[in-house]
Amino acid sequence: MLELRNVVKVYGKNVRAVDDVNLELPSGVTALIGHNGAGKTTLMQMIATIARPTGGQILLEGVDIVKQPDAMRARLGFLPQDFGVYPNLSALEFMQYFAALKGVRDPARIRRLLELVNLHDHADRQAAGFSGGMKRRLGIAQALLNDPDVLIVDEPTAGLDPEERLRFRHLLSEIGLRKLVLLSTHIVSDIENMAGRLAVMNQGRLVACDTPDSFVQRARSQVWSVTVPTQDYERLSAGLQVLQAQRHAEGVTLRIAHPTAPLAGALPAEPTLEEALMTQRYAVRERQDLAA
Ligand code: ATP
Repeated sequence: MLELRNVVKVYGKNVRAVDDVNLELPSGVTALIGHNGAGKTTLMQMIATIARPTGGQILLEGVDIVKQPDAMRARLGFLPQDFGVYPNLSALEFMQYFAALKGVRDPARIRRLLELVNLHDHADRQAAGFSGGMKRRLGIAQALLNDPDVLIVDEPTAGLDPEERLRFRHLLSEIGLRKLVLLSTHIVSDIENMAGRLAVMNQGRLVACDTPDSFVQRARSQVWSVTVPTQDYERLSAGLQVLQAQRHAEGVTLRIAHPTAPLAGALPAEPTLEEALMTQRYAVRERQDLAA
């Protein structure tokens, strides 16, 4: 179990990149989501002990890893957002290099990991010729060398093609069956397909943490569907939080986030996870507007 208590990171004089975050992470996959600049990377870097919190505690099985970073480092696998492979090394050489750095002396483990990430057939190829997905998979393989209990991956599926994304999700879900996996993503289908928990950040704050189903449940009765004549669309939708607008022969079908029926004839609609998250975002923005 990983526990964050009142974690704060301030850059310079007043950029509160992470602002009083309290979070408990059991094993399984947790996805961290939020707009660019919400504080996801900073939070992950603090958990990975490569950035020091300005305040608060981060506890791994009760041990404060801010004071004792080695307690985390010995059990951590980390794939940063900008992880680069060395183009002149083959996949095997790359793994051997990292194994030596991490003090892993088991050649069979390297082979097993290359198989796990489905790169064993490419073990002797130079990484320079690898696709984005293959490089990310090699990045994961190096992160797993020390058989970590905690795996942190920053935007693992960014820039991958759909097939590679699928493979990558499958791999991370499998790892999440036994380990604590924390990943950040902007892609809702990543969450739908692998994350058991979802932590939403906004302007450095953790605004919600729950299962994807609970997000959808909370958004029920907040999402409405209504079809309006095309010529009235702009007038009727002005000022409303339109989640989706689909034009067709009969007019425009709108899906709208609203606490009550926003227009005559609007019917409650079953929210998708993406809509539930958008609804949540609107709710956060409204609370901020009210506070301002
Ligand atoms: P993205 O999705 O774009 O990666 P993020 O949610 O990971 O964004 P962070 O990269 O953690 O967000 O940034 C949070 C805030 O902290 C932003 O305002 C950013 O400009 C600021 N920030 C991040 N790193 C530094 C730094 N080293 N020095 C100063 N400010 C920083």
